Amino acid sequence: MKNPLLEPFNEAPFSKIKNEHFKPAFLQAIEDTKKEIDDIVNNPEPPTFENTLEALDFSGQQLDRISSIFFNLNSAETNEEIQKIAQEVSPLLSEFSNDIVLNQGLFQRIKTVYEQLDSLDLTKEQQTLLEKKYKNFSRNGANLKEENKKRLREIDAELSKLKLTFGENVLAETNKYEMFLTDEKDVEGLPEGTKEAAAQLAKSKGKEGWLITLDYPSYIPFMKYAKNRELRKELSLAFGSKGFHNDELDNQENVIRIVNLRHERANLLGYDTHADFVLEERMAETPKKVLDFLHELLEKAKPAAEREFAELEAYAKELDNIDRLEKWDSAYYSEKLKQKLFNLDDEKLKPYFKLENVINGVFKVAEKLFGLTFKEVDHIDKYHEEVKTFEVYENDNFISLFYADFHPRPGKRGGAWMTSYKPQYTLGEKNSRPHISNVCNFTKPTSSKPSLLTFNEVTTLFHEFGHALHGMLANTTYPSLSGASVYWDFVELPSQVMENWCYEKEALELFAHHYETGELIPMEFVEKIKESATFQEGMATVRQLSFGLLDMAWHGKDPSEIKDVKAYETKAFESTDLFPETLETCMSTSFAHIFQGGYSSGYYSYKWAEVLDADAFAYFKENGIFSKMVADKFKEHVLSKGGTENPMELYKRFRGAEPNIDALLERAGLLETNG
Ligand SMILES: [Zn+2]
Repeated sequence: MKNPLLEPFNEAPFSKIKNEHFKPAFLQAIEDTKKEIDDIVNNPEPPTFENTLEALDFSGQQLDRISSIFFNLNSAETNEEIQKIAQEVSPLLSEFSNDIVLNQGLFQRIKTVYEQLDSLDLTKEQQTLLEKKYKNFSRNGANLKEENKKRLREIDAELSKLKLTFGENVLAETNKYEMFLTDEKDVEGLPEGTKEAAAQLAKSKGKEGWLITLDYPSYIPFMKYAKNRELRKELSLAFGSKGFHNDELDNQENVIRIVNLRHERANLLGYDTHADFVLEERMAETPKKVLDFLHELLEKAKPAAEREFAELEAYAKELDNIDRLEKWDSAYYSEKLKQKLFNLDDEKLKPYFKLENVINGVFKVAEKLFGLTFKEVDHIDKYHEEVKTFEVYENDNFISLFYADFHPRPGKRGGAWMTSYKPQYTLGEKNSRPHISNVCNFTKPTSSKPSLLTFNEVTTLFHEFGHALHGMLANTTYPSLSGASVYWDFVELPSQVMENWCYEKEALELFAHHYETGELIPMEFVEKIKESATFQEGMATVRQLSFGLLDMAWHGKDPSEIKDVKAYETKAFESTDLFPETLETCMSTSFAHIFQGGYSSGYYSYKWAEVLDADAFAYFKENGIFSKMVADKFKEHVLSKGGTENPMELYKRFRGAEPNIDALLERAGLLETNG
């Protein structure tokens, strides 16, 4: 029996893969990669950039591809069996990558080349690769004593298991919760589409009535529109208490264990805290710079947030005699106030944002800016029938495959993300093109209605597509520097900048047509979308900053004294809290970004990237939003360059100057507030 994962393949061979193929494929590919590394170490020739660094960067390609297929499936189409395999192979992979970075023979060869850096005739990209690889070793303990190296490996193996468990608990909590409603009064206020979807969901479980879940397309409209305050409270508390029930899915111990292991690891390597360790390789550089950045923005945003909160509370009082505005009132009354101020609700806009039209829209924007065309094809193997596949061309040259997977399923984790099944790189004469994927959780079509997106879902689609462009337009030599392989506080620039086109008349004209009548979205709506974009921006900014500050609280200090997750979190939220405290909820126990994903000491980067994207888009605005000149510069200096150079250098080459905070403050309406 042949294992399809161990045969050569270009497109991921999903239909041939069975779960039992994964583990043997991992084991074999790890062995093969070990041999490749041994060959580098045992090379009798003296170390050179080519025979050491280049050889290392191109090793383990099969293993990388197996890993990306497996872990992408574990996010987008998982099941108990896959989760079990993940628990088994994750420690193996972590041990293997530690074996590489703790390989003294390999390190010595890299160090020898690194010490000749100034005398070697290397390109900028090659210098970056050399520095990055050297750091990769030193930051993983290459200079440590033997016993400390051993401890480092133990820590990494345990962390990788803990992170998986953390995420599985959150997913299980999300899937476990069901709110069945049978009284028409309990769904009062919900838009027809939401009600219909909830009814269909109930029916699929063999029940009468309506089923509300913690999946975003179910949870968000309920919090926004459901009139029944008690049920909103119940749903909000369920959503906010994932991993916080003192049962087998509880994440409190996992949080404490994770932050302590991270701290110990940083100390072993000579850093004060985990944040110091992480930020050494970021545009922001130090915890102090991050905290200064967050506090500067907080100072600008807090007065606006407090004013907005008071307005909202007064409005809830006026409308329903609510004395104390609670977390579960926020979305509901915000939506009502927004309707009153702008007379513009999601339901009114949704008919103009049929999923297929929005996809065509984002494709057209990419065509006008970067000369890309997208051809939907049906010959590419896929892991689920809902996945769409496209070939992407740049001026008639094939540049990428693009997978798009839009709707929620029980085996898919929440949120939206971009990932890849194959990296871009150049080997010899051949530029090997990438396979990029977007995975989202958008409202599903029903029997009577196509998938109609909220405006928020439209911007999410543009956002993830921006990440995808970073992958598709990659044009580098080395796979580890390609595409979105950039510093974390730079990676959100291509995605967030794309969101700006959703607010522009010239762009909306390309795709925002009513799904039944074909009528173009009325321009008064467009004006209102823009106006309403800064509605409650102070509150939204403070909320984002609170997540950044919580992240820094967990990772920027010695955590060994922390015993109570909830109490510690409450303290971290002190300067940002607007709503009354709820004892039943805890953010940290489901804060997957920082405890499962890679955002530890990096949550600030969303706001950081907003500064970049506002400043970058201001450049487009100055020259026209479809300016070929600016788009070309963006493609040349940012999108195609990946991590081949320091992001500040790339940015300056694109923009002609360092990013400036003013464009963001102006866009967010936070300049006048304090003027
Ligand atoms: Zn993003």
